[in-house]
Amino acid sequence: MQNQTQRTGWGLIGASTIASEHMIGAIRAQAGHDVAAVMSSSIERGRAYAEKHGIAAAYGSVAELLSDSAVDAVYISTTNELHLEQALAAAAAGKHVLCEKPLALSVLQAQQMVEACHAAGVVMATNHHLRNAATHRKIRELIQNGAIGKPLFARVFHAVHLPPHLQGWRLDKPEAGGGVILDITVHDTDTLRFVLDAEPLEVVGLSQTAEMAKGGLEDGVMAIIRFDNGVLAQLHDAFTVKHAGTGIEIHGEQGSIIGRNVMTQQPVGEVILRNAAGEQKVQVEHENLYVRGVASFCAAMRGEGSPAATGDDGIRSLATAVAVLQACTTGQKTPVNP
Ligand code: NDP
Repeated sequence: MQNQTQRTGWGLIGASTIASEHMIGAIRAQAGHDVAAVMSSSIERGRAYAEKHGIAAAYGSVAELLSDSAVDAVYISTTNELHLEQALAAAAAGKHVLCEKPLALSVLQAQQMVEACHAAGVVMATNHHLRNAATHRKIRELIQNGAIGKPLFARVFHAVHLPPHLQGWRLDKPEAGGGVILDITVHDTDTLRFVLDAEPLEVVGLSQTAEMAKGGLEDGVMAIIRFDNGVLAQLHDAFTVKHAGTGIEIHGEQGSIIGRNVMTQQPVGEVILRNAAGEQKVQVEHENLYVRGVASFCAAMRGEGSPAATGDDGIRSLATAVAVLQACTTGQKTPVNP
């Protein structure tokens, strides 16, 4: 499915901020890969975006982008309600699909997307960047090597301030999948699944609407997830908090791992191991999270291994976020399905 020059061309579905800030660079960092085209619902904006980023073609519809033979793979980063139909169209056109989180607005929709890609024989992945961080990979390795014994509890600190240039649909468009739970809780969940190598079973939660979100959306949440290895994980996610700092902690029978400033898009942060031997800062070799994630997707397109976060990972993180949303609405403990 590669184009004739054997270069792999990507089509951007959505002239988005995340593509301009991280993903165009991450694609171009891969040898033999480039961004061939961009699709925007506004062709004027699409052309301006293409010119700004040196992209050869701009289209005003997904169908036009998918019929461009220079496009072998698509990166979908539109608002969340559009991912489903765009992923289905890309799969039907035989293009590989790297899709943003949350994959869709419901678990059923996400399953449809993954099944369509599987049936079409194209690679499908979810852009959960955090599992590509050197810090989280180190935390997973420490746990697997028994550094803290049996893990019992986890705490995720992901209360941040949504920057002004992103204060749009996330805060006032429920129909676009706005709100902090579909935006941030999905990332926490994927990260916890990755570091713990365990699956969420059930959740409780309470959400908050402070001065930012409208239209019934939440801009803060505290939730607890029970995992199938017995771990209880506490999450604190918000758009409204300027000075909390981010982090993750895993507490086990024999020790604790503390990750500071690690719930971020940047290759930064530190990992501390505390156990009977005392406290030590663990060495990590930072690297660009998005470049690493795209590299695994490119390898999967060549038939080498799986993407860092698969479509199934996207389904599971979404299922947990949907359960948290439901728990916050009903006040009930809610099972995670699937
Ligand atoms: P943006 O608001 O920047 O982009 C979403 C859509 O909004 C675009 O597809 C575009 O539509 C439209 N848009 C963007 N800028 C403008 C503008 N100036 N004027 C008019 N319309 C505009 O969203 P994000 O980039 O923040 O998020 C996009 C997706 O990526 C979401 O699914 C989000 O959850 C995910 N995301 C993932 C991150 C990660 O680290 N994995 C980080 C941030 C976001 P059109 O293309 O039709 O022009």
